[in-house]
Amino acid sequence: MENKLRIYNTLTRKVEQFIPNEEGKVAMYTCGPTVYHFAHIGNLRSYIMEDLLEKTLRYMGYDVKRVMNITDVGHLSSDADTGEDKMLKGAKREHKTVMEIAKFYTDAFFADCGDLNIKTPDVVEPATNCIPEFIHMIEGLMEKGFAYESGGNIYFDTSKLKEYYVLSNHSEEELLVGVREDVDEDENKRNKTDFVLWFTKSKFEDQELKWESPWGTGYPGWHIECSCISMKHLGEYMDIHCGGVDNIFPHHTNEIAQSEAYLGHKWCNYWFHVHHLNDKAGKMSKSKGEFLTVSLLKEKGYDPRVYRLYCLQSHYRKPLEFSFEALDNAVAAFDKLTKRIGSLRKDEGAVEPEKFDAWKARFQAVLCDDLNSSMALTVLYDMLKEDMSDATKDALAEDFDRVLSLDLTTAYAQKESENGVDAELEAYVLERIEERKAAKKARDFARADEIRAQLLEKGIVLEDTREGVKWKKA
Ligand code: AMP
Ligand code: ZN
Repeated sequence: MENKLRIYNTLTRKVEQFIPNEEGKVAMYTCGPTVYHFAHIGNLRSYIMEDLLEKTLRYMGYDVKRVMNITDVGHLSSDADTGEDKMLKGAKREHKTVMEIAKFYTDAFFADCGDLNIKTPDVVEPATNCIPEFIHMIEGLMEKGFAYESGGNIYFDTSKLKEYYVLSNHSEEELLVGVREDVDEDENKRNKTDFVLWFTKSKFEDQELKWESPWGTGYPGWHIECSCISMKHLGEYMDIHCGGVDNIFPHHTNEIAQSEAYLGHKWCNYWFHVHHLNDKAGKMSKSKGEFLTVSLLKEKGYDPRVYRLYCLQSHYRKPLEFSFEALDNAVAAFDKLTKRIGSLRKDEGAVEPEKFDAWKARFQAVLCDDLNSSMALTVLYDMLKEDMSDATKDALAEDFDRVLSLDLTTAYAQKESENGVDAELEAYVLERIEERKAAKKARDFARADEIRAQLLEKGIVLEDTREGVKWKKA
């Protein structure tokens, strides 16, 4: 591991060298989707960039264990524990049970991830699988004096902490504005930043899923699930925790509060946050009604991998504004790039190990620079222009694709076979066209004519046009 990853850490607000707790191993956690609706392409921007992070770590040689929850209970329509449970809202909308909704949208989420070449985390755990663990942790917090019962619910007492706002330096008022969309101030709270660990008697009497607990029948709050599920699978120390920037407050702030209060020591060292995908009206969100999904992109004829490329073209720490115009540019870039790579003559020459290593090091270096994915693409383009064997280029493209996951070496052949064109034949024809061009340049017109005749024998007709040489089957 020669190149060392440097990554922006929300906790320290700077780009830092990434040093995991255990050498060579990374314990990674990602906040999973709330499965009451389809994921929109904004949510999926976060998952694409987190996938890039995981694959970069693996590319660097780390043994990564990545865990993700599925939020199927407890996430209310305002992140500040007010409003209706999102799952219940989804179930009512579709006249189904909460569990039916959860299953349907969990499957839909992983189908989208499949289309975007996002790897499934090593462990995926729905919140409803872990109720005993949540209860156990809440009991621990009660015993340590960090939680209290009020109005039938159990709350975390943020006033017991030395510092609550560890992840952000904004003022309390500013932060609370963001989560106040449909706030009814909860009068049971002792401090306004306290949050619910367990709901029992509350205004959500019609909650479909309820469990017995020492405090009465009820259901868990949203934040407790991520602390518990990560500890269940990764233990008491975690290296890196991911999510979109909207998770910084209150969700991740509350996760840190309860986890460190419970454990009595620092819990997670690096916090990785992906900035939002916005549309012209602002942040894309599920609750705003109309939103863009992968299925919709597919219906409109877009290959989902084009959206992945679109995301990779910008840095994860910059907001990204979505437009179909920009996506169309990514379509052209994807087609050109995969065609260029698909037309490489794999068996032309041997792989040149020194060149291979040098380009690999360049690629790794830009990724290690706080995941500079647009520069990683530039390295790929530059590599394709380098004077070296096609075999080397093909091997490098395949290697880079372990991280980029754009199917760089296969997308073109796949497309051509779908369109009924033989990619091998096309690669051969393009090679002969290049040869003919070189012959003409050298004023060897006899050779140029010979190539044209040879192609004709194979049923290929060349046409010299103003835009260059075109070919078709005779
Ligand atoms: P949710 O399903 O609402 O719990 O969100 C799933 C993930 O998507 C979380 O990590 C959010 O932070 C993230 N997210 C939500 N909206 C956006 C957006 N517009 N752009 C990027 N990520 C988002
Ligand atoms: Zn979470």
